[in-house]
Amino acid sequence: MKYCFGIDIGGTTVKIGLVSENGEIVTRWEVPTRKGSDPTGLLEDVKVSLENCMAERKLEKTDILGIGMAAPGPVTADGVLHGCVNIGWGDVELKKHAEKVIGISPVCIGNDARVAALGEAYFGAGKGAKSILMVTLGTGVGGGVVPDGHILMGESGVAGEIGHMTIDPYETAVCGCGKKGCLEQYASATGMVRATERFLKEKNTASVLREKDAVSAKDLWDAAKAGDALANEITDFVCDRLGSALANAIYLVDTERIVIGGGVCAAGQFLLNKIEASYNSKVFSHSRNKTFALAELGNDAGIMGAAALILQDAE
Ligand SMILES: [Zn+2]
Repeated sequence: MKYCFGIDIGGTTVKIGLVSENGEIVTRWEVPTRKGSDPTGLLEDVKVSLENCMAERKLEKTDILGIGMAAPGPVTADGVLHGCVNIGWGDVELKKHAEKVIGISPVCIGNDARVAALGEAYFGAGKGAKSILMVTLGTGVGGGVVPDGHILMGESGVAGEIGHMTIDPYETAVCGCGKKGCLEQYASATGMVRATERFLKEKNTASVLREKDAVSAKDLWDAAKAGDALANEITDFVCDRLGSALANAIYLVDTERIVIGGGVCAAGQFLLNKIEASYNSKVFSHSRNKTFALAELGNDAGIMGAAALILQDAE
């Protein structure tokens, strides 16, 4: 049996998994993210951690097919990470650097949202589909396209970055990226809270949401599911924008399946139905045959997708 390591670099922790060649996580653990101006310190921590794991399980370097890494920033096909604001890195040749510091090759790098899409395509909600478009609704909105079993990378590493598609050119509030009117400003958990606050202020409709001091995205979806009229108006508004973005994206990539992930997808089938209805109202009739699915890998999507970066070529 051969193995690979799947590594998901986050702002506070680095999640690591030892994954078997048939796609099962044998063991998983975390190390704290060592921040700094370059990745050397973090990679040294990872190296020690991987060596401990291999020693415990009596694995040699020849048992390891490679290391896949997911990083929170744009990554190009040459393994260069173009800025990682959360951790403090500028442009880094992460692939080259990691292979040198850790001493295991190959190291394959991908953007975290794109890698999560690859994980779902191979091991989760995308299994059995020829191609998937995945959108992650969390603190922000991420995305990734897997057209043919590999991540669509693009030239500058932004292919699939649906969260910053301009969805309202007349928006006056500024997105985290510096532009105005991005999908993320409405369809992220933060965006949903912002929409809720605005609707509560502008409308007089009675709502259970008025009883809360601070409304969360979960409160909003719980209220909508329970039949609260205003909460349904707000979730319809949010899904309308999401449906527009998905329709626009499908006209470019035309995947077989659309996968919705991230913390907000805890709202389940109810959320999926609203997104699907909105999407279907905005596309040509023959593009209404897409299957919609909720992501299945949860917190393991990063590790599994990173492992898939290695296993996709080992098969
Ligand atoms: Zn933006």
